[in-house]
Amino acid sequence: QVVTRFAPSPTGFLHIGGARTALFNWLFARHHGGKFLLRIEDTDRARSTDAAVAAIFDGLEWLGLLGDEEPVFQFARTPRHAEVAHKLLDQGHAYKCFATPEELAELREQQRAAKLPMRYDGRWRDRSPEEAPEGAPYVIRLKAPREGETVIEDAVQGRVVVQNAELDDMILLRSDGTPTYMLAVVVDDNDMGVTHVIRGDDHLNNAFRQLGIIRAMGWDEPVYAHIPLIHGSDGAKLSKRHGALGVDAYRDEMGMLPEAVINYLLRLGWGHGDEEIISRDRAVELFDIGGVGRSPSRFDIKKLENLNGHYLREADDARLAALVAPRVAQRLGIALPEGGEALLTQAMPSLKPRAKTLGEIAEGAEFLFKSRPLDFDEKASALLDDSARELLVKTADALSSVQSWTVEAIEDVIRRVAEDARLGLGKVAQPLRAALTGRTVSPGIFDVLFLLGKVESLERLTDVGT
Ligand code: GLU
Repeated sequence: QVVTRFAPSPTGFLHIGGARTALFNWLFARHHGGKFLLRIEDTDRARSTDAAVAAIFDGLEWLGLLGDEEPVFQFARTPRHAEVAHKLLDQGHAYKCFATPEELAELREQQRAAKLPMRYDGRWRDRSPEEAPEGAPYVIRLKAPREGETVIEDAVQGRVVVQNAELDDMILLRSDGTPTYMLAVVVDDNDMGVTHVIRGDDHLNNAFRQLGIIRAMGWDEPVYAHIPLIHGSDGAKLSKRHGALGVDAYRDEMGMLPEAVINYLLRLGWGHGDEEIISRDRAVELFDIGGVGRSPSRFDIKKLENLNGHYLREADDARLAALVAPRVAQRLGIALPEGGEALLTQAMPSLKPRAKTLGEIAEGAEFLFKSRPLDFDEKASALLDDSARELLVKTADALSSVQSWTVEAIEDVIRRVAEDARLGLGKVAQPLRAALTGRTVSPGIFDVLFLLGKVESLERLTDVGT
């Protein structure tokens, strides 16, 4: 059975690169009918925070990427990590190293001066612990192979080879008895039954060292797939400036739908022909790790926005109304009236066609809830000159006779007003829109009148016309 995992360190928000790693792991597991697990790598006690753990769960939940089982917290497994280190020691695959920090600093200094790579030289590899002073502190180091090479057939990077002479004997257990990150990852992956390690290619070098532990323990080796990092649109490493924000910012500040973010992340580094719009189900059906490219992908906020626009148009109107309602209320600094969400649902087909974000929909929906007299933006007030006001009075008159307030009836009346005034429909619609919404951009004018209702429409027109 395929088992994948996402193993974030809770030292900051769940960023977009992490979300993509989680998605690839989730998709791979789903595609193979396997399991997707979550592990919180909270062994760095100084930098791990509860707030970050919460943000990770929150972001994953929003994206629908929570694990199939209870999450594993790495720090809680410290005793198990130590147990493995001691097992390696007992079996002769590891040894106690009593080198002091001063000694090691001196070694590094010598290597620096000689322009040699800085590596532990294995000085305790073949010495007996009895040579150390009584009670001296020690670390446990892996006795790594020195000859030959280590090869990884990476599912994304291809065949990657490292000379074993380049890998020094890494620390497994520190002198205070705490495991190193390298050991913890390997032990946890093994105990969780992870078969495929899919993660950022910044971990590729770690994989060689981790394999050393796996082989020493005689455990099954996972398949590795190191995926290229995400870069900004300018090719530089992704930073805040490029939109490397927490997943929550895409939801809250940018007003994205999770299915749009998922579709975007999927396409970021993975492709299936020219298909841009790929549903989650289709992605499960198609996803293969071999389809992940080897070069870094570029983050393009415009593409994400376009996808979001697509998913907004597809989305259920009541769902969008519920998402947009608090945004409208916040923009206007009011509580929406009773029935406000229902009105938004009704208005959604005319609000969403051109919108790219929930924020844009909310902006377009403001007019429905503004209080009278409206304030007008600059362009709108420029439209409302004397002749426009006169026309608005006539329009209000004509509309007041409409008995059943339907879009068709409204349209009939407005067309008649335009004909009588010998004006094009647009010439009538413009000041009307300004008077009714305070802006020069809005949904179609008949829809605006219909959604506002007869009473509110006439009152707004009267406010301006007189
Ligand atoms: N905790 C590591 C990180 O956040 C991931 C380790 C792994 O996937 O093996 O980068």
